[in-house]
Amino acid sequence: MKNCFDVVIAGGAATGSALAYFLSASRSFKGSVLVIEKDSSYQKCATALSAASIRHQFSTVENIQMSQFGSEFLYGIGETLEVDGERPDVNFHEAGYLFLSTPEGYATLRENNALQRSLGAQIALLSDRQLQDKYSWLNVSDLAGGSLGLKGEGWLDAYGMMRAFRRKAITQGVSYIENEVVQVHREGARVTGVTLNNGETVACGVFVNAAGTGAMKLARQAGIELPIESRKRSVFYVTCPETVNDCPMLIDPSGAYIHPEGEGFICGIQPPADQDPECFDFDVQYPLFDELLWPILAHRVPAFEALRCEHSWAGHYDYCTFDQNVILGYHPDINNMVFANGFSGHGMQQSPAVGRALAELIEFGEYRSLNLKRLGWERVLNNQPIIEKNVW
Ligand SMILES: Cc1cc2nc3c(=O)[nH]c(=O)nc-3n(C[C@H](O)[C@H](O)[C@H](O)COP(=O)(O)OP(=O)(O)OC[C@H]3O[C@@H](n4cnc5c(N)ncnc54)[C@H](O)[C@@H]3O)c2cc1C
Repeated sequence: MKNCFDVVIAGGAATGSALAYFLSASRSFKGSVLVIEKDSSYQKCATALSAASIRHQFSTVENIQMSQFGSEFLYGIGETLEVDGERPDVNFHEAGYLFLSTPEGYATLRENNALQRSLGAQIALLSDRQLQDKYSWLNVSDLAGGSLGLKGEGWLDAYGMMRAFRRKAITQGVSYIENEVVQVHREGARVTGVTLNNGETVACGVFVNAAGTGAMKLARQAGIELPIESRKRSVFYVTCPETVNDCPMLIDPSGAYIHPEGEGFICGIQPPADQDPECFDFDVQYPLFDELLWPILAHRVPAFEALRCEHSWAGHYDYCTFDQNVILGYHPDINNMVFANGFSGHGMQQSPAVGRALAELIEFGEYRSLNLKRLGWERVLNNQPIIEKNVW
């Protein structure tokens, strides 16, 4: 292997591979790209363990636009990422998100909806009566209404998408190696290279930190403190003996979610804040299902009283403690280190947009398609968080 690359990317899951794809797809980019991925089986990364859903229902312009691009990308993914006549199918179920709102949260829901629609998102506002007419299985007694995504929202095979990015990037000339970056070398305002687990060193023109929950360690080695922690999220696959027809991705005002998957559903909920420490183990939080999630789901959909948990898993994501949004781009103290960290549960759907944006930033020194500057380090350093307005 060469020991010098124009761009070295640590982490080859959704973010790293999307970036590798977009860089190598650019006709004007002539540089060499190396992706260093410590586990080519991808068994434990957030991308593979994700609930793999995409929504346009955010309250921040950039988050809405990134997901809109994500959906557009998914429509054409077969053709775009085709290799040797094989077109990837990531099984995009475009069934929409249904955000439910109590009377207290309804003003926020409407405000969010107005912004989403102004950006071209196709999202309908439904009153409690309309919800009941459409979904006879739903308990609307404590709801004021909801907002339903009509286009572009749903769930997919995130692992398949990541693999498709990787495969296409390789055919476009990107090198992938299975190894771990164990040391980042910084001299003044530049990262000069990295040391791998086998002792080899690789010099770089640009270094990209796309290491998910491994990102904090790499940042620290470069002298930068990322406000990010590894947070565990448990996902439960359940079946229900009763029929619940046309169920979209249902988001309860409590934050609990559930959507159809195969013969059953997958569901989850964030643990209460005081039970959500930094965490690296993969033990499923079963009490969360029994004591919190199931009662909420059974209240919202009485048929879910009879849910049966068939299996479950836990994964980790890179949670941005500053404002739960990604930190994207160069740090002002280092000229050639790019960050894409702190996705906080949105990173799978944002990976096509982030891959494209960072490819532009690296090649042209600026964002050209979507201006994601506001998501950069400056907001963190100037203490200007961008807070998503949740609906209760
Ligand atoms: C349970 C769960 C549900 C989720 N649901 C959704 C959802 O519905 N929608 C959504 O958009 N997002 C969701 N997410 C979040 C989403 O999965 C992540 O934000 C996204 O996958 C992040 O991708 P990534 O490539 O940045 O990081 P990761 O997928 O974590 O990949 C990082 C990669 O870096 C590698 N790595 C780490 N350290 C090093 C090192 N030192 N050297 C070399 N390689 C290294 C790792 O092996 C890994 O493969 C969910 C996450 C979880 C855990």
